[in-house]
Amino acid sequence: MLCPLCKGDMSPGKTILPFELKNGKVIVVLNVPARICDQCGEEYVDMDVTRKVEQLLDRAEKDGLSMGFVEYGAAA
Ligand SMILES: [Zn+2]
Repeated sequence: MLCPLCKGDMSPGKTILPFELKNGKVIVVLNVPARICDQCGEEYVDMDVTRKVEQLLDRAEKDGLSMGFVEYGAAA
């Protein structure tokens, strides 16, 4: 696919996504698969990956995770 911003080529890569939970706690998800633009560095995360990340955050919230870091690969 092409970058929505600059129409450059996007290569598969990994990114880090920070999320703020309802209780104000911030959880950072590591090793999230993403496409990254070769030209401008824009990151695009696929819909199914986003859904998995949301499940991961749900579980982390229920577990009362205090660390603030979860690894994407651990849930897949
Ligand atoms: Zn771009």
